[in-house]
Amino acid sequence: HVDQHRRGEEQRHQQVEAQVTQLTERLREVETESAQLRARIGEERRQALTDPLTDIPNRLAYQERIAQEYARWKRFNTPLALLIWDVDRFKQINDQYGHKAGDKVLKVIATTLADNIRETDFLARYGGEEFVLLMTGTQQPVVQEVADKLRLAVETCGFHYRGENVPITISCGIAEFRDGDGIEGVFERADRALYRAKDEGRNRCVVATG
Ligand code: GH3
Ligand code: MG
Ligand code: MG
Repeated sequence: HVDQHRRGEEQRHQQVEAQVTQLTERLREVETESAQLRARIGEERRQALTDPLTDIPNRLAYQERIAQEYARWKRFNTPLALLIWDVDRFKQINDQYGHKAGDKVLKVIATTLADNIRETDFLARYGGEEFVLLMTGTQQPVVQEVADKLRLAVETCGFHYRGENVPITISCGIAEFRDGDGIEGVFERADRALYRAKDEGRNRCVVATG
């Protein structure tokens, strides 16, 4: 009777062990699946926020970031500047050298700007040939000095297309966040400054007034 009981116990023990092994395996599968899913969500989020041509953040990413930086500026009052960049006579570049050359110009500009900004700054392709840059922790006149350095870096990048030198320049409108400012208001000020930069001859950075 005792033997019979022991055999029964052993059998149950083996069954339980088999179940544990099975469940452990299943758990491992689920863990792998969820890790893969997390990676895919991360990659899809990255794609949704990246401009495929230039590989820098897109307008959606800018909208997320400006909301964060604005909240931070309101809370801590650290300097925040918004710069809008626009390629000079870009239509002419497209017309003269072709759309593919134009696309390459946009890539070169994005890389040049991205390579020359601080880790804490934020650069995005806002639209066709427009870029927006958020500069944090920097005040005038340094903001304009940095902007001018970036402008010069593009002007002197020595871009060639099919062996031909293609001069490229960019203009910029700069606006700093000041007491009582909203995001839209600052953007409009920077945009007006950009228009002035174009009006005054292009290849220049203009700081918004008023
Ligand atoms: P301005 O100096 O006043 O800024 O002159 P502009 O020629 O740059 O300005 P305009 O707005 O007249 O032309 C912008 C051109 O940019 C028109 C459009 O065809 C071109 N463009 C916009 N997005 C792209 C793009 O993704 N690739 C290329 N190749 N061209 C683009
Ligand atoms: Mg434009
Ligand atoms: Mg332009």
